[in-house]
Amino acid sequence: MPEKKSNKVKLICASCASEVWRYPSHAQWSIIFCNWDCKRAYYRLPDYFWRSVVKTDSCWLWVGPTHGPDGRGSVGGGKTQDYAYRYSWKLHHGPIPEGMQACHKCDNPSCVNPGHLFLGTNSDNVQDSLKKGRFPVGERAASAKITAQDVLAIRAAQRNNSKSIAAKYGLTARHIRKIQAGQTWRHLNSISPIETPRTELCSPALAVCLVQPDLPL
Ligand SMILES: [Zn+2]
Ligand SMILES: [Zn+2]
Repeated sequence: MPEKKSNKVKLICASCASEVWRYPSHAQWSIIFCNWDCKRAYYRLPDYFWRSVVKTDSCWLWVGPTHGPDGRGSVGGGKTQDYAYRYSWKLHHGPIPEGMQACHKCDNPSCVNPGHLFLGTNSDNVQDSLKKGRFPVGERAASAKITAQDVLAIRAAQRNNSKSIAAKYGLTARHIRKIQAGQTWRHLNSISPIETPRTELCSPALAVCLVQPDLPL
């Protein structure tokens, strides 16, 4: 029996570019595939990664889907799901060692330029955020009365006079004890209170990886 196409419209598969006939309601979908194999092929890394990157003179901007409020790109799905900039690091430089994180030198969360990334510890990352005035949680909350620097000062202060510290910062003594115990402002827990913010983003040993030429694409 000949296929009845009269009420279907011709669309193009985003993966193999062949014709697909679908009901008009499907035409509103921006990405059309013939079948699951074409869909899987389309999203297969790293092709999918490069399709979602727009290179500028400095930053390489991620234009694919994002995850979280600060516009960090998301690649893969299920077990392979990762942030786009982390994926970019791994693609260009290899695995990220245990306990290390890919961080941005350019402070642009949507940037995936491997030359703008460096490896740091979680502590480095938070120190870096402190220096740049960018905080994942805590200070940015509308109700926060104190800054991350205050938290470090509170933790460095004597533990037995929470009342006077509380008066200084306009908080309750209970709140101060919680801060000192690391129950709040947890993202700063990896920083020892006496540590001062570092002046360099990247240690000399890690700087080597940043001056490597980009791999041929
Ligand atoms: Zn196809
Ligand atoms: Zn950048």
